[in-house]
Amino acid sequence: MPGGTPPNSLTALPQTTRLAPSPTGALHLGNARTFLINWAMARKAGWRIVLRIEDLDSPRVKPGVIEQTIETLAWLGMDWDEGPIVQSDDLSPFIEAMEQLAAMGRVFACDLTRSEIEAAASAPQQGVHETRFPEHLRPAEMAKRFDDRERGWRFLVQPGIVEFEDAFLGPQRVDPAQTVGDFVVWTKRGQPAYQLAVVVDDARQGVNEVVRGDDLLDSTGRQILLRRALGLGRAGGDDVRYTHLPMVVGEDGRRLAKRHGDTRITHYREQGVEPERIVGLLGEWCGLGPREPMSAGEFLRRFDLHTMPRSQVVFRPGDERWIQKS
Ligand code: GLU
Repeated sequence: MPGGTPPNSLTALPQTTRLAPSPTGALHLGNARTFLINWAMARKAGWRIVLRIEDLDSPRVKPGVIEQTIETLAWLGMDWDEGPIVQSDDLSPFIEAMEQLAAMGRVFACDLTRSEIEAAASAPQQGVHETRFPEHLRPAEMAKRFDDRERGWRFLVQPGIVEFEDAFLGPQRVDPAQTVGDFVVWTKRGQPAYQLAVVVDDARQGVNEVVRGDDLLDSTGRQILLRRALGLGRAGGDDVRYTHLPMVVGEDGRRLAKRHGDTRITHYREQGVEPERIVGLLGEWCGLGPREPMSAGEFLRRFDLHTMPRSQVVFRPGDERWIQKS
């Protein structure tokens, strides 16, 4: 968007969602299911779909991987109305957002490493993957300008409960000051961190329906705080509807990953598996009845968020055999 002006009046825009794959992690049965549900919800309800490639805040993406991700979504039968928009193509909207936050005294540069923060935190937190940033590590004064892109920057989080209604999980309440504290918005690699990139891009692209895995549920409070601070969207930044979906896990209860075998969609495709077989399995996982080969169009016709199983889906060896038709 020229000048990076955030769209503050979305009134004229239709409901809009995004498919936002990160090309660092290949599409596998778990995230393919989330994308297929997102796509089906959008096409059923007539939402506009933006395809956004989230290639920031991660190590360099290997050449060809972005194209392969896009091709795989299309091969499974998904389509979109706008994009692909590749986040790394233009960093200026994120820089402008940082300048805006700095002018409001809401960010500070911080080069502390994770282990330094952990060492300074008074009580170690068990079972959480993110260490809460303790207040005493804040500088006495906030920066007035975003003047060094090669440093890490954090957003100043004031205490307070953030509430939102998740379309699948129901009412949610979180106090980001208690869970994570001041969080990273800019990395020392000279790029926006995930939280900032998502918020700025969702607003620029008019996204008001966010559908994603529930591993990102705890990011939502932070994203709402950033939307509010930046004055993005309608209703003071609270105009996005969130739908967080249960993850696919292995028999060990851990999120589907390499350790559970090669469930990458490209791997199945190379072995001659038809997309209908994959979509058929995903359909059963979404409560569409016993597995049978199914096109994305058929999945869309039958999918209903209200009858989708509420628990995590477990990927079992029998699922792999069914995909491979053996
Ligand atoms: N790029 C993220 C992923 O692939 C999704 C981020 C989001 O939906 O906010 O998991």
